[in-house]
Amino acid sequence: MSEIHAEFDVVVIGAGPAGALAACRLAKSGVKVLVLEKLVFPRFVIGESLLPQSMAYLQNADMLKAIESAAFQTKNGANFSDDSQFSSIDFSQKFTEGWASTYQVKREQFDNLLIKEAEAAGAVIWFESSVMGIEMQGQSASLQGLGPEGSFELRCRFVVDASGYGRVLPRLLDLDTPSDFPERTAIYTHVKDDLASKYFDRDKILITVHPVHSEIWFWLIPFSDGTSSIGVVAPPDSLAKIPGSLSDQLWSNISETSELKELMEGAEECRPVNSMTGYSSKVKSLYGDNYALLGNAGEFLDPIFSSGVTIALKSADLLIDPLLRELEGEEVNWEKDFAAPLQVGVNCFRVFVEAWYSGELQKIIFNPPEDANPVKRMIVSILAGYAWDEENPFVTKGRRYLSAVAAQCG
Ligand SMILES: Cc1cc2nc3c(=O)[nH]c(=O)nc-3n(C[C@H](O)[C@H](O)[C@H](O)COP(=O)(O)OP(=O)(O)OC[C@H]3O[C@@H](n4cnc5c(N)ncnc54)[C@H](O)[C@@H]3O)c2cc1C
Repeated sequence: MSEIHAEFDVVVIGAGPAGALAACRLAKSGVKVLVLEKLVFPRFVIGESLLPQSMAYLQNADMLKAIESAAFQTKNGANFSDDSQFSSIDFSQKFTEGWASTYQVKREQFDNLLIKEAEAAGAVIWFESSVMGIEMQGQSASLQGLGPEGSFELRCRFVVDASGYGRVLPRLLDLDTPSDFPERTAIYTHVKDDLASKYFDRDKILITVHPVHSEIWFWLIPFSDGTSSIGVVAPPDSLAKIPGSLSDQLWSNISETSELKELMEGAEECRPVNSMTGYSSKVKSLYGDNYALLGNAGEFLDPIFSSGVTIALKSADLLIDPLLRELEGEEVNWEKDFAAPLQVGVNCFRVFVEAWYSGELQKIIFNPPEDANPVKRMIVSILAGYAWDEENPFVTKGRRYLSAVAAQCG
């Protein structure tokens, strides 16, 4: 057993988008920052369709050039189909100022680029280093972990948990609280697609609603290299009824659609089929003495609106100012300066996710207000990730507005 004692200002747990962006910005501000990442990069993770709002946070961290030069698939909107109805959302119709396009990315490549940017900015990265324990000691924290050379212990002034589905601090500090959403399962893979021979817009994610069971839906996210990500989200018991492997369950569901089934003709799986169940999560608090939680380590709602990476980047963007002030010795109001502003957008997405599964939002998406109607532009804004723009009434009074619009669509 080897012991390493090192002193850092900040330790970030996890090198996903939230951890990389936070580490990059902190390092650029002169903070001594260490990122502890359990795996070796590049590594696969799900979450491949970004929202235009995320570009602003990448730009704030000066990370955009690296992403722009990677030849990722551009994304300028979303298409929706349930086999009998079709709707196309173009992000350029949004209400809020800002980016109208973004990318569809293989996360192994995207996340690797981001963490390299953090490293170039001066952050120290330890891969294959897992955090196993934490103790708060007055003005500092002590972390116990396991790395390639054995166990280690280190002290720092502040811990940023960006461990995603690892949920390190929620587990160690008993911060978990039940999610607002029931358990759902996602089954997914990558395929070598044959979309070039069909009528298909690669610049948009395609969301297909099951023609009979509206709580079951599929994503099709094309990449720039002729492959696509395909997945189904469904209640776990409906998938368990289908005999066979995960692959059988995925393709059996796809075969119940007509448009998606046709689009997938000639497609070949090119990575193992994976599944995740019960990915929605929530915590009692997003901060405490000497720590804050970012991205999925804090809360994850649902994949339907591709909001996960945007929320992860937003949380990292919001962290920087209060954390720098705290490191300077200032007393910080973490609720006012970090948690509450973050929750504005998370709560907006929460209302949209609830409205999707209640059927109200599906009704609106398939019978949208006319293009000239500002209500349409406001809804498009949220779907483009602009969920923190309090000028948009769907951000502050989403539930009431969505119900009113859905009633008119009916
Ligand atoms: C089915 C499904 C589909 C999704 N699709 C989309 C989508 O299209 N678009 C979108 O924006 N989001 C999507 N998401 C959400 C997306 O996956 C996450 O929101 C996003 O990856 C969160 O980023 P993060 O930086 O918080 O964590 P992550 O990207 O999960 O990174 C966390 C890192 O922490 C590391 N780690 C874990 N435990 C430890 C430990 N003990 N010690 C050290 N390191 C550790 C992990 O190895 C990992 O590298 C989807 C989610 C699901 C479930």
